[in-house]
Amino acid sequence: MVVLSLGTNLGDRYANMILLEKSVALLFEGPIRKSPLYETAPVGVDESHHPYLNRIVAGEYHGSTEQLLLETQTIETRLGRIGKGELAPRTADIDILLFYQEQIQSETLTIPHHALFDRHFEIAGVQAVVPEMKIPGTSIRFKDYEIPAHVKTQEIIEIEQ
Ligand code: AMP
Repeated sequence: MVVLSLGTNLGDRYANMILLEKSVALLFEGPIRKSPLYETAPVGVDESHHPYLNRIVAGEYHGSTEQLLLETQTIETRLGRIGKGELAPRTADIDILLFYQEQIQSETLTIPHHALFDRHFEIAGVQAVVPEMKIPGTSIRFKDYEIPAHVKTQEIIEIEQ
């Protein structure tokens, strides 16, 4: 399974999320699994930023990691990403959280994503969509992963299933 994190905190966030989901569904082979929709306060950024809507999705992907990155970046651009850099507000953000059991550290990709274990909604979302998947490089399944207390303190609101 490939697991992506979708996020938006600008403009009509609900419309953006629907466009993100539809675009990503076209990349995957077969059905996609979706976490609940989460609303989260921006982590580690200016608090004047609007809250994010986030959803974690999973599916089967038959291309390479680099191909997937190109395709997700094309979607981000098409949906009108504003600003650059991790902390900027954005219309559409797609992070590759997991790519099967791969562990990659290259100039363009870090997989598992560097923030996966630091963000409550990402871990909660991964546990919701791929509970049986093993954390790459370990024999621990995500459903058995104990979220650290300091991560659990990040408030996440489940808006809908
Ligand atoms: P961001 O501002 O979070 O959208 O970061 C975009 C940059 O992060 C891109 O230039 C990617 O090459 C890089 N990147 C590294 N690892 C990942 C990943 N797992 N998923 C998405 N982008 C990644």
